[in-house]
Amino acid sequence: MAAMKRPRPTIHFVSLGCPKNRVDSEVMLGVAADARYEHVDDPARAEVIVVNTCGFIGAAKKESVDTILEMAEHRRAGRCTKLVVAGCLSQRYPEELAAGMPEVDHFLGSSDMLKLGEVLRGRAERMLVGHPADWVVRASDPRALSGRVGSAWVKLAEGCNRTCAFCVIPELRGKQRSRTPDDVVREVEELTARGVREVNLVSQDTVAYGRDLPGGASAEARLAPLVRRVADVPGVRWVRLFYLYPEKLDPELVELVAHHPRVLPYVDMPLQHAADAMLRRMRRGHGGARLRRLVDELRQKVPGLTFRTAFIVGHPGESAAEFEELCDFVRAAEFEHLGVFRYSDEESAASHALDAKVPALVAANRWRRLMAIGRRIAARKNAAFVGRELEVLVEGASEEHELVLVGRHRGQAPEIDGQVFLSGGAELDAPPRAGDLVRARVTQATDYDLAAGLVSVEPRDRPAGTRARGRTLPVLRAGA
Ligand code: SF4
Repeated sequence: MAAMKRPRPTIHFVSLGCPKNRVDSEVMLGVAADARYEHVDDPARAEVIVVNTCGFIGAAKKESVDTILEMAEHRRAGRCTKLVVAGCLSQRYPEELAAGMPEVDHFLGSSDMLKLGEVLRGRAERMLVGHPADWVVRASDPRALSGRVGSAWVKLAEGCNRTCAFCVIPELRGKQRSRTPDDVVREVEELTARGVREVNLVSQDTVAYGRDLPGGASAEARLAPLVRRVADVPGVRWVRLFYLYPEKLDPELVELVAHHPRVLPYVDMPLQHAADAMLRRMRRGHGGARLRRLVDELRQKVPGLTFRTAFIVGHPGESAAEFEELCDFVRAAEFEHLGVFRYSDEESAASHALDAKVPALVAANRWRRLMAIGRRIAARKNAAFVGRELEVLVEGASEEHELVLVGRHRGQAPEIDGQVFLSGGAELDAPPRAGDLVRARVTQATDYDLAAGLVSVEPRDRPAGTRARGRTLPVLRAGA
């Protein structure tokens, strides 16, 4: 008689916060897979629940705490026997959380992802938060992809050495630790062998990549040569750069973004403000003139540039005139994608000690006004796509309707920007699958999304040894 197979234990993940946290969650997912755990989408079915938290501003902290409390209900009255809290919130407030949340069995910080193995083996202490945060992912770490097929985030470094007044990220993530170029390239090679075609390069301060490596000033350790190596990995079709600090850009990097066929003309550069005195209070190390020059330079040198940026409104000392200057800057620069954050007064940030706090209602109104300006620009730019044919990376069926496919064009980053809803294609020989690149003609535009009709599907060019694509990846529950 054949031996009965023991059912695999089940685990559920909630991944809050930014794409960097997503990578950490995927490493924990890999650790769980190595321990033979099966990921389940429904927390009610999970024996272990992991919440990977975010803790850098008030709203993120509240969402993290609310999520832990929601999952604690499963620990109290459901199937769950282990509730694990990981990430930036537990890195920041380990004692407070441990005292206030008796339902939580284990705490991991922002550098403790691999310790999940000890937790799953049942031999771990309750408090596993390491200080200071000192880890950065490596190609040899287990990592299971989640979300959409064909796309992955790749961390170049962890931590940040800058001292922006409003930011607690260096406290949460530690000093910058860059990965070696070889290790990044090795991970990209492994990802393409798993069907990844879009590589999204991310860190806290991407232009500073490599400066902390031995020989950090040398040519090999710089960002531009690494981007070129990543783009040349067989199977990579799109490379995107995130979190570029607005300092003088390396001409070689600008050249790659402008002309390399696989480095997308997409730049994510958080600018934070535009008024000189505000940038000084924020300790950004430059004035508004540099930002205007940088935006102009990139617009001139990069044909078809998509520019994503983010600003903070309501920072201490922000006057009405400075806010108006910011609005004028945004109108003139016409950013394709704009994120606006309301200042969050974090007790350990340098800006906490500043006078002239902006009342919450004023900050909320400024947020609404700047968002509205951004939305009008995005809508106008989106409308200009109607009638054009675009290259689109198919992500899979839309959440609204399984017969409608969704994807993204080169100017849309995963999980942050809008999407393209694809229809038609019944006459095509082979219908597209998740991970395919297609050509599609845009028929309609909303403020952030596009609708397009399929024109053709690019034949696949998988490198030798590539596994079949189109499989389902675990969906990590994300925040609201
Ligand atoms: S560069 Fe970014 S992560 Fe680093 S301190 Fe400034 S805002 Fe924070």
